[in-house]
Amino acid sequence: MTASHPPVAALGHFIAGRPAPGTGNTQAVTNPATGQVTAQVHLASVQDVHAAVAAAQAAFADWADTPPIRRARVLFKFLELLNAHKDELAHLITAEHGKVFTDAQGEVARGIDIVEFACGIPQLLKGDFTEQVSGGLDNWTLRQPLGVVAGITPFNFPAMVPMWMFPVALACGNSFVLKPSPTDPSASLWLAQKLKEAGLPDGVFNVLQGDKLAVDALIDHPDVKAISFVGSTPIANAIYERGARHGKRVQALGGAKNHMVVMPDADIDQAVDALIGAGFGSAGERCMAISVAVLVGDVAERLLPQLVERTRALKILDGENLAAEMGPIVTEAARQRICGYIDAGVAEGAQLLVDGRGFDGAQAGAGSATDTSGGFWLGGTLFDHVTPDMRIYREEIFGPVLSCVRVPDFATAVQLINDHEFGNGVSCFTRDGHVAREFARRIQVGMVGINVPIPVPMAWHGFGGWKKSLFGDTHAYGEEGVRFYTKQKSVMQRWPERIGKGAEFTMPTHP
Ligand code: NAD
Repeated sequence: MTASHPPVAALGHFIAGRPAPGTGNTQAVTNPATGQVTAQVHLASVQDVHAAVAAAQAAFADWADTPPIRRARVLFKFLELLNAHKDELAHLITAEHGKVFTDAQGEVARGIDIVEFACGIPQLLKGDFTEQVSGGLDNWTLRQPLGVVAGITPFNFPAMVPMWMFPVALACGNSFVLKPSPTDPSASLWLAQKLKEAGLPDGVFNVLQGDKLAVDALIDHPDVKAISFVGSTPIANAIYERGARHGKRVQALGGAKNHMVVMPDADIDQAVDALIGAGFGSAGERCMAISVAVLVGDVAERLLPQLVERTRALKILDGENLAAEMGPIVTEAARQRICGYIDAGVAEGAQLLVDGRGFDGAQAGAGSATDTSGGFWLGGTLFDHVTPDMRIYREEIFGPVLSCVRVPDFATAVQLINDHEFGNGVSCFTRDGHVAREFARRIQVGMVGINVPIPVPMAWHGFGGWKKSLFGDTHAYGEEGVRFYTKQKSVMQRWPERIGKGAEFTMPTHP
């Protein structure tokens, strides 16, 4: 007799206001803490993509004509529902991503910030007006929605990153097709259901589960007018190029290698806290995680003993355990990829101070009693004497691996960071205001923290890196988001009592 397993849910799409089963292949969804398959998600076929875009296109005209204040009211209702049920969403995230529940709550909260921002859309879309630009002539600018826009999002923030996009896009009057990561597909379906309950007309927001096939079909579809992408750099680059070939608006946010500089005058206890939280929070699977500690002057000798001890003491548990500081890795493939990087670091001569590869729940910090027989577990890993030529320094590992690079002075730290191909986030810990100011001015990175390890901008500021961390020129959310999801139109108007001068053949001037 074979052992019986709990039933596995089938997850599909959400098209035209209702769940749609999908016609494509399926992919397993696992709980990273147990390794068990919890669902099979459908991957969209081209036919599914066409159905989702057709639903969005059919809904667009009426939604675009809906006054911004009424669009905002739907978002206010959505906000109310999110606030009432946000822990349901956080549990879904922990079950499919593995991050600790309190961190999942934080993810949802940062997504809610963007919904709050988008509720202010009547003010944001006001436009400019100049009376009397010339005799009897007024000129104004207005911003109009694009049409159907698509969002393609990564596994690591299955709720927050979609919420960087769709609240602003919908508030601006667009209809939306979300293509989330098939690794953790449930959050997107939950959000679609809540938007429907909030009164969003059917077809204005659609979810299409899928992989490259769905993404390519979305980009190639003539009715999709703009693409927002967040994910790894090679895919961001490919999507930017493919979108540009079709003359589409694309913002494609890519990978990262975020440095944290610790100056000799920094508070060492604070710096250690910051490195532990920003390096190992969410198992390092954050695009704003700190993966390189740049230790200036004599900092290494003073900071490393504490950092080693704290890395060894991390409480690595099932994310549903409220004592957990770090959960499992998202998939077994990701765990193996990260272990491969640790092997490479050792082979290239970096000094391995803490090795997460042999993680065993019983050895983890006090309170860790994880059953590691199933699940995708890895301990925190710490390297010292990492140099810029090593793969573990150059490439994004996207796991709980922190590399320490020792540099003699501030100028060398700045040069090191500016020479890196990524430029997402960066941080400098110091008590010297001049050093802090110089750092913020000279560093070639899009988001800078001064004594703040993870400087994710608030909802009304906009999020985006530089260099290979972002392809395109507008950042996500904030006023940049409003610009991305709208086209500017300029209108000139004259209402003469009569046409006095007859035809004019020269450019009008304003002497
Ligand atoms: P990924 O690039 O593998 O996938 C991102 C999205 O693209 C998913 O929806 C995926 O299904 C789709 N996709 C995958 N392969 C594709 C292909 N060949 N063609 C078209 N689409 C494809 O990224 P991931 O592993 O889900 O997420 C982790 C990555 O995302 C990291 O590199 C991280 O730095 C990055 N990230 C960046 C930011 C940022 O704001 N810059 C934020 C979060 C995550």
